[in-house]
Amino acid sequence: MSDSNWKPQTRTKIAQGLHYIDPASGAVVPPLHAATTFARDEQNELIGYIYSRNGSPTTAHAEKMIAELEGAAETLLYASGMGAVAAVIETLNTGERVACPAIMYHGVKSWLLRQQEKRGIGVDLFDPAIAGSLEAAIHKGKTALVWIETPVNPSFDVIDIRAAADAAHAAGAMLVVDATCAPPVTTRCLDFGADIVFHSATKYLNGHSDVTAGVLSVREISPRWQEIRQISISLGALLGPFESWLLIRGLRTLFIRFEAASANALKIARHFENHPKLQAVLYPGLASHAGHAIAKRQMLNGFGGMMSVLVKGGAVEARRVTGALKTFVVATSLGGVESLAEHRRTVEGPHSIVPENLIRLSIGIEAADDLIADLEQALARI
Ligand SMILES: *Cc1c(COP(=O)(O)O)cnc(C)c1O
Repeated sequence: MSDSNWKPQTRTKIAQGLHYIDPASGAVVPPLHAATTFARDEQNELIGYIYSRNGSPTTAHAEKMIAELEGAAETLLYASGMGAVAAVIETLNTGERVACPAIMYHGVKSWLLRQQEKRGIGVDLFDPAIAGSLEAAIHKGKTALVWIETPVNPSFDVIDIRAAADAAHAAGAMLVVDATCAPPVTTRCLDFGADIVFHSATKYLNGHSDVTAGVLSVREISPRWQEIRQISISLGALLGPFESWLLIRGLRTLFIRFEAASANALKIARHFENHPKLQAVLYPGLASHAGHAIAKRQMLNGFGGMMSVLVKGGAVEARRVTGALKTFVVATSLGGVESLAEHRRTVEGPHSIVPENLIRLSIGIEAADDLIADLEQALARI
């Protein structure tokens, strides 16, 4: 894979999703099949599907679009991001270990820690900002999964996917990448050696803050993947047809939404870098960011719309700023067309290790200048 063929290739893949023609009607939009059960023919053979908990045609259509974007052997959609995460973690046996970043999406980390307590799964935390920390958290023969997130939400550290894959594979472990903040139009994690790539499809993939979904895509069909698939069917964790149909609609504009959000975010990050009211702007697209060189190697089509700012002061000042915002909605979640801001420490609760002066921003597709002016007037309050 080379950078030079990334953009046209990505556009072509997206276009395949756009170029649908229904064989029965000529409709240019795929139908929504709500059926829960599917007929057999005179020989008692299945015509297509069997029963909707095992999979259904509209969901399969969305899965095929994402599999093409990721270059995956197979993709499964789930009723939420956490549903997909839980299906992966459920495959771990007592005594097996997971290495993961100390700061990561808090829902995944707290689920892992619960499994550690309840089922004796080992959890080894590392700090992606410290060289060698990831490697030190992997125990050969014991670590079954290396779980990384890049860029990390909400510190926006960047983790080298290729290096993490090499370290995981050398120890006999699989690499899972939570790439929610770097959708496949910018990073195809499987191309960099990941075994499984996960996204909360609630975020960029759908992009309109109106679907809760998760997705797993796999480089090859391994025994662990077959177990994940079986567990997902048994738990009834897979995505239903209505959400899948909305997701197909959202995916059609993924490329252009991500491009617009990335351009806005870069402009905003550059404007606020070295701002007198800020201690730091955490955005991988800034040349000054510690992970910028790695980000340039693995985020081939924009650095995304996610960033955090550290205000000068503490929780009181941070919340004063979010309270004064007018174009940003103060709400959790990310990757939608509307810009969101949140005081992450408030959302994560008392056990959070996120700095209390951190405000997470999800940059949408509004005019960048309006977002900049809004942030300026809000920062003027402290
Ligand atoms: C939102 C999110 C999740 C969880 O996904 P849900 O769809 O909310 O269940 C996991 N990882 C990251 C990075 C997220 O932002």
